[in-house]
Parts: sequence; C-alpha cells; structure tokens
Amino acid sequence: MIRFLAKYRHQTTAIIIIALIAALTYLAIQSKNVRMSEYDNDTYSGLAFGTSVKKTIYMDSASARQEVSNSIDELLKDLDERISYRNPSSEIASINKAYAVDGTVTFSPDIKEYLSREIEICNETEGAFSPCILPLSMLWGIEDGYSKPPSQAEIDETLLHIDPSDIEIVDDGVIFHNDGMKIDLGAVGKGIAADEVMDELSRQKVPGAIVSIGGTIAVYGDKGKGRPWHVGVQDPRGEDGKVLGVLEVDGGNVVSTSGDYEKYFEIGGKRYHHIFDPKTGYPADNGLISVTICTNDGFLSDALSTACFVMGLDKGLQYAEDKGVDAIFVTAEKKVYITKSLKRRFNIRNDEYELAKK
Ligand code: ADP
Ligand code: MG
Repeated sequence: MIRFLAKYRHQTTAIIIIALIAALTYLAIQSKNVRMSEYDNDTYSGLAFGTSVKKTIYMDSASARQEVSNSIDELLKDLDERISYRNPSSEIASINKAYAVDGTVTFSPDIKEYLSREIEICNETEGAFSPCILPLSMLWGIEDGYSKPPSQAEIDETLLHIDPSDIEIVDDGVIFHNDGMKIDLGAVGKGIAADEVMDELSRQKVPGAIVSIGGTIAVYGDKGKGRPWHVGVQDPRGEDGKVLGVLEVDGGNVVSTSGDYEKYFEIGGKRYHHIFDPKTGYPADNGLISVTICTNDGFLSDALSTACFVMGLDKGLQYAEDKGVDAIFVTAEKKVYITKSLKRRFNIRNDEYELAKK
C-alpha cells in the first residue's frame, strides 16, 4: 500500500487538491446563494399606461411566474387609474377640475410627495422639467393624434397658465395661484410604476425579472447566475427593437428613455414631438433625439430622462453627472455622449452611431 501511494504520490496530491477546490467553490456558491444555472423564465406581453408592457420573470415554478405576472398587471392597472389625469375619477383629474385659485387642495400623501419631487426637479432644472405642463401638452394634442401645430396666439395664451412658481406646497396640501392650471404625472408615471413593480417582485420573493413599460425598464434581482443584466438602448431612428447599444445594469435599477420618436407628427420635414420646452411652448428642439437614464430610483430615472432631454446636451449631461445617475445622450448627428460612470458598462452596437466626448 505504502509503495502504491508513493508511486502515485503526485497524482493523489493533484486529485486531493482538485477535490478540495471543487468543494470550496461549491460551498462559496451555496453560501452566496448563487446558482450555476438560470432560473426557468416566461415572457408575458400586455398593455398598460397607454403603452406596451413586457415582463420576463425568472422563477422555477411556472404557476408562480404566472401569478407574479397577474399581480403586476393588476398593480399597473390600479396605479394608472389612480394617477392618470385622463381617468375622471382619479385624484389628479378631480384636482385639475375643481381647485379654486389661492385655495388649498388636499392630496393623498403619496400624490403630494410625487408633486413635491416634481417641483424639486423643476427648480433644479431651472424649469426645463415642469409639473404643470399639461395645458400645453393638451393644446398640442400629440398623444391624441393631432397633426398640426397650434397658433402662436394659442401657445402664448397657454404659457400664462403653466408657470410652476404659481404652485405652492403647504403643510396640508397644495395651492395654485393661477387659473387654468393642470398637473399630471405623465413624465414620471412609468417610473413610479417601475418602483411599485420592484416592490411587488421583492414581496413575492422573485429571484429575477425584467419589466418594461414603454421606454421605462425595471431590472430586478438576477437570473440565477449572479451576473449583471444587459439592456438594449433603442436606436431612436431605427425600427422598434433595433438597438443603438447595450447597457450593463445591476438588478435594482430602472432604465428610462425619452425620445422624439415615441409620439410625433411631421410637417415639411420638421418633427413635432411630445416633450416640450416650457419656455418656448414648442417641442424641445436642441439637437437631442434621445436620452436614457439608469438609476436605482424609478421616479428619478423617468423624470430625469424627460428633464435632460429638454435641457439639451451640455446642461443635461452636467445635471446627470451632478445627480450621480448613468446617462446616454444621443444627438441628431448620431453622436452618443455618456456619463463617466458608463465608460465600461455601455457598448455601441450599431455602426451608424459613434461615441463622442464633450
Ligand atoms: P414617454 O411618455 O414617451 O415615456 P417621457 O417620460 O419623456 O416620455 O414623458 C413625456 C410626457 O411628459 C409627455 O407626454 C408630457 O405629458 C410630459 N412632458 C412633456 N414635456 C415635459 C416637460 N418639459 N416637463 C415635464 N413633463 C413633460
Ligand atoms: Mg420621463
């Protein structure tokens, strides 16, 4: 026996070492709860917030996946009904209809918080982001299928009723100091929804999921292998689904894109889209065609994609850096600018676009 061991000493040592490494790796993986394989997954498509919704849920039980998908559908429907200005029984709709100039309107605490956060972003962006843009969006009616710009006189009249300094937040609610004002959560609704979806995924103990609500994508947990997700950024001039590049995202983040390609009409080669510059009363026209923001707060992600789109490349990119979010700005010349944080996490995958530096 001793002779045998001596003869095969090298091989035996090697086998023991390999077995030890395998055991330690296995233990390390177990202790971090990281699997070697992906969870089973299903993808469900539907509609909510007037846009398409796609949910890919990673979870081993098929019936549990279906249940999670159903509960997300329900959550989105309830939230949309609650915050949509179009739903006559929503709190937002009743505020818009019934407020008295200089009188206090009381809100549910969450709606008041959303409005306060919008006002904060409005102040930080010198009014590029406006919580009370709705009368202007309604005048242009781009989401309602209008296909002709309003007259300058109509725009001038509307601008008198969209001044955010006419909104005052007080302890028990909000005061509007002008008539004809209207608030809406259009620029942040999908971000709020993404936050609620993440909470639901956590409550339901889902290992990983990716849920897109139009241009807002909630990225949650992991697929089972503990690796980051890869999210495609839409080519603003390509067909739906064609990407301009790919972004590496950790679970817990929300990726939102605002662009001039979502809802628009064209006259004489000029594009009129649904994101407005509150100073001019016209669709933002500063050379940007899309802005993507990635951060761990859905509300902020959605708000900042709209805000930065209106601010333009220079101010927008600086604001994104100041807020510490990841951002991708795309110009009409197909130049792509990114925040420093994305240097190693964003790759262009489309020859028509080119990474550029400020
Ligand atoms: P999408 O609705 O296509 O996802 P956004 O998140 O950028 O795009 O939101 C656009 C919506 O935000 C518009 O439909 C309008 O209701 C609103 N909006 C437009 N311009 C502004 C602005 N300057 N500030 C705040 N909200 C805006
Ligand atoms: Mg937005």
